[in-house]
This record gives sequence, structure tokens and C-alpha cells, in this order.
Amino acid sequence: MAIWYCRVCGLDYDVSPWGPQEAAPDYSTCACCGVVFGYDDQTAASATAYRNSWLEAGGKWFYPRMQPSDWQLQPQLAQIPEPYR
Ligand SMILES: [Zn+2]
Repeated sequence: MAIWYCRVCGLDYDVSPWGPQEAAPDYSTCACCGVVFGYDDQTAASATAYRNSWLEAGGKWFYPRMQPSDWQLQPQLAQIPEPYR
């Protein structure tokens, strides 16, 4: 069950890369947008800036082989946590 959504692209995660208190990022990379958790997603402004660059570049998966065959961008973007939209 998804418990966390990427602040940049809305990809769902079973384990939060920001830790249980949302305060301890593990600096791993989002498979979809390629953001490094703890760097470009620290604030709403930086998450939005990263998202805009990513979308302008085509919104492609950072790790293309992990992209589900039925993946759709818009429904995933709708999952971005409210404070980071
Ligand atoms: Zn992402």
C-alpha cells in the first residue's frame, strides 16, 4: 500500500524516503522524475521548480525500465502532496 507520494512527480512509495517523521531524507533518487530526496524536494518552491524543468524536458522516467506499461502522467501528478503543488 502506498504511504508516500513524491513531492515532485507524485509517484507512490511503500516506504517514505523522507523517513517516518518526514525529516530524514535518504538521498535516494525518484525512479520517475529523478529528484534526489532531500535536495530539490526540500521546499514547495524547489519541488515546483524541479517539476517544471522535468515536465519541460518531457516528463520522462529517470529509470525508464521501471516505468509501468500502463503509466499515465496526469493521474500521477494529481497525487502530489498538497503543500508541494
Ligand atoms: Zn518523483
